[in-house]
Amino acid sequence: MSEFNDTTITQLWETLHAMPEPAFHEFKTSAFLAQELVKAGFSVQTNVGGTGVIGVLDSGHPGPVVGLRSDMDCLLFKQDDGSQKPIHACGHDGHMAIVLTTAQRLAKQGIKYGKLKIIFQPAEEIGAGAKALLDEGVLDDVDFLFGLHLMPKSMAHLGEVIPCVRWTACHLLTASIEGRAAHGSRPHEGINAIDVGATIISAVNAIHMDPLSGWSVKPTRFIAGASSVNTICDKAEVSFDLRSLSNKDMLVLVAKVSNIIETTAQMYGAKAKVEIIGTCPASVINEEMLALTKEAIVAELDSGAVLPNKTTTVGEDFNFYPLEKPNIKTAFFGLGANLVPGLHDPNMHFDHKALMLGSNILLRMVNQTLKL
Ligand SMILES: [Zn+2]
Ligand SMILES: [Zn+2]
Repeated sequence: MSEFNDTTITQLWETLHAMPEPAFHEFKTSAFLAQELVKAGFSVQTNVGGTGVIGVLDSGHPGPVVGLRSDMDCLLFKQDDGSQKPIHACGHDGHMAIVLTTAQRLAKQGIKYGKLKIIFQPAEEIGAGAKALLDEGVLDDVDFLFGLHLMPKSMAHLGEVIPCVRWTACHLLTASIEGRAAHGSRPHEGINAIDVGATIISAVNAIHMDPLSGWSVKPTRFIAGASSVNTICDKAEVSFDLRSLSNKDMLVLVAKVSNIIETTAQMYGAKAKVEIIGTCPASVINEEMLALTKEAIVAELDSGAVLPNKTTTVGEDFNFYPLEKPNIKTAFFGLGANLVPGLHDPNMHFDHKALMLGSNILLRMVNQTLKL
């Protein structure tokens, strides 16, 4: 039996699953990954962009730099006693086990050309890790970059792979509204921030863009209220969640929402400040890498395992890489694993046979790219 098999990769997953750490706090996780990469023969850099770990395997011969990226962070779940429990409920422990095993196998096998760059990225869940690594220049020398995500069973079963997951763009936006307080009996002397917020919500809900292009905007938070019920409220905060299939549509949608907020506040004589509190770009698809991914899936499983490309309204910060570094050829596949009840569910579990399958597909993609 090979040194790398279902049992070894599942053990690796168990180790990582048992040390869940949230965004930018992946201390034990990164120490473990760094130690394993060093053991496998990689030159390793730690604390990159916070808690990131980068491992490089240099063939010593000219050739492309192939990057494999895994996220590392877990989610926090609020308990009855108010405490926050860290749980790997998005499968990032699985991604780490897959990428680390693939790195170890490639180091054992050896690469003839170019370099292999293993990128363990922190803080995917808050959409900040990819940007942190880009700021550190980690991607500057990378020519190819591959990533993956475990998929819920509703999208892919074990033995099925989505060659290209199309993630939508996401913007989270908050408007802080400032009106003027007054006695409840004299509303004409105040500017009611609740009225302003309510009008903003109605107007935003009446935005229309091409329904065929795939977009949505909805209010997700409305905080308002004077300290007493006979006072005109002077402050409110309205938040919106914006999604679109294309990065171009997102620019239009953000402009429309911001314009409504500012002009509505003006109409009432109030002030409003718009703040973008989080963004995630839509996928940028590279057709050449899509073909390479399909080839690897067919070679590993069979053509029946290749599902159509699928779109999901979830954000994924991997998409910052091709957006900010358009010269990098990227691929991102969705791995079926009979994962239930769903991602971000604290009871999420999946069939661990998917782990070695994921590693085999990545290994084939790297070998094909480096033409071994
Ligand atoms: Zn997640
Ligand atoms: Zn995730």
